[in-house]
Amino acid sequence: MPRLYRIVDGCLSSRRTIAARCLPARRNWYTIACSLRVRCAAIKGGWEGFGPKPQNRPANPRDVVAYTAFPPPSLFHPATAMSFLHSLRFALFITRIVHVPQWRPAHVARVQRRRLRRLVRFAAERSPLYREKYRGIDLNHFELSQLPTTNKVEVASHFEESLTDGRIRRADVERFIENPDNLGRWFLDRYAVSHTSGSQGQPLLILQDRLALEVFFAAMCSRGNPSGKPGVIEGIRRFRHPVRVAIVTLRRGFYPSGSAIEFMPEIVGDFVHIQRLSSVQSDLIERLNAFQPNVLVSYASILEALAIQSDKLHLNNLRQIANISEQLVPRAGKRIQEAFHVALPDHYATGECLLLSNGCPTNGGSHINADWAIFEVVDDDYRPVPPGQLGKKILVTNLANTVQPFIRYEVGDRVMMAVEPCRCGSRLPRIDHVEGRAAETFWIFDGSRHQLVSGGIFCAALDSLHEVREWQAIQTERNRVKMRLELLPHVSTPPPLVREALLHALTKHELPGYVVVDVEVVPKLLPDQVTSKFRRMISEIGPPDDPQM
Ligand SMILES: [Zn+2]
Repeated sequence: MPRLYRIVDGCLSSRRTIAARCLPARRNWYTIACSLRVRCAAIKGGWEGFGPKPQNRPANPRDVVAYTAFPPPSLFHPATAMSFLHSLRFALFITRIVHVPQWRPAHVARVQRRRLRRLVRFAAERSPLYREKYRGIDLNHFELSQLPTTNKVEVASHFEESLTDGRIRRADVERFIENPDNLGRWFLDRYAVSHTSGSQGQPLLILQDRLALEVFFAAMCSRGNPSGKPGVIEGIRRFRHPVRVAIVTLRRGFYPSGSAIEFMPEIVGDFVHIQRLSSVQSDLIERLNAFQPNVLVSYASILEALAIQSDKLHLNNLRQIANISEQLVPRAGKRIQEAFHVALPDHYATGECLLLSNGCPTNGGSHINADWAIFEVVDDDYRPVPPGQLGKKILVTNLANTVQPFIRYEVGDRVMMAVEPCRCGSRLPRIDHVEGRAAETFWIFDGSRHQLVSGGIFCAALDSLHEVREWQAIQTERNRVKMRLELLPHVSTPPPLVREALLHALTKHELPGYVVVDVEVVPKLLPDQVTSKFRRMISEIGPPDDPQM
């Protein structure tokens, strides 16, 4: 994005770089380098992305989920030289943000305030929804509390009006994400697209600028990496000795974290070698042992399942595990750390603001990236709740995403901020703990041992049934699940294939015949009365006493 390029230009001109001084700001050396790199890649192999062609990328990304994004680089190839510039640029960006956690809070607040004013003025100028919401507010002199809040229902029902790019149509975005080949590709050549799973009962299409993803990855590589030494020297060193990152998810898809990860090789460059794996592939353990990752990224439920099988895993170079997308309950965190003996930062984020925070390596919880996000813990009437007290909901503002502004966006999680200063050295505000995000998993007995079943299995089965508006799975016995379905208003009978789709999904995930599924249609599925958040997975019997039996 132009703003980011200006930041990088600033770094370069301060180093008296001839190219940066001689070229116009929006057509700088980096822009030219990227276009040359694309041409080099096209000449070399015809792959549509940046960088060398993957060795075994599957024809259909949904068929096979494991592939290596980058083969070992050769410094003598022109495409690799361009890739080096790409990595260098990312390293320069990291140097701009790496010291922010040590800044005085007042300094961070000034940066945050400046970015908020810029975002709010831009949103009011370009987005019909925000223009109407901010009517009557002096956008040059306002307090954050003066801005009206927004929520998923409002943004979803006024999707096109909420955007700042008038070219974007909902139908085009929906058509784009119907094609799995578009994973890792920019919509309109500049926006990353994803959709939420609808944990609050309603899915939402999300578009992000490149800058939002760059901040997300830069924060993850610096603030979310307790053992790292981010900077230009580290960037150069890692070009020859990249970090090996294994990402284990259920499947590839346009869900927020999964969609973002597709862009990681392009944005981070040759800092990393990535291997994508599926939690349900039969040779997962063997592939992890062969790849020898330095960093393992996955969902809490999958990490817990791997921890139980840790006697088969021989990950001698593992330095860090990162949990994404699911709440890390204390039971799972303890089991994972006992199995792997490495740092386990627990990143807390929402699909609308992936860059929200990075897990703290010493005190637990996670530090808000307050230079690029605003995080408000509030009560039912949107009044601020002080640190040390549990709020009723949160308001999130993503300062890096200008195409779909999320400003004071309401999320149903109940959060408590920490009171004490943190021992890790970061002065950024820290989330002490989060309530209201239940771990969405069941323990099933397959005849010989207990297996952890993620809600993603049911989600995958029901995704294709368009008559279903919302669902809830209730584990009533160890191997019996009651599926409660809320149908769309114009549908009166449940789709005939719902039971078959669920059983097929369970069979596909190696749980054939062990699980009885009851289907019940209800008029309305309501949020949990205690947490005010909709729960898709509810276990009435809890985990087994000994999951290894
Ligand atoms: Zn900390």
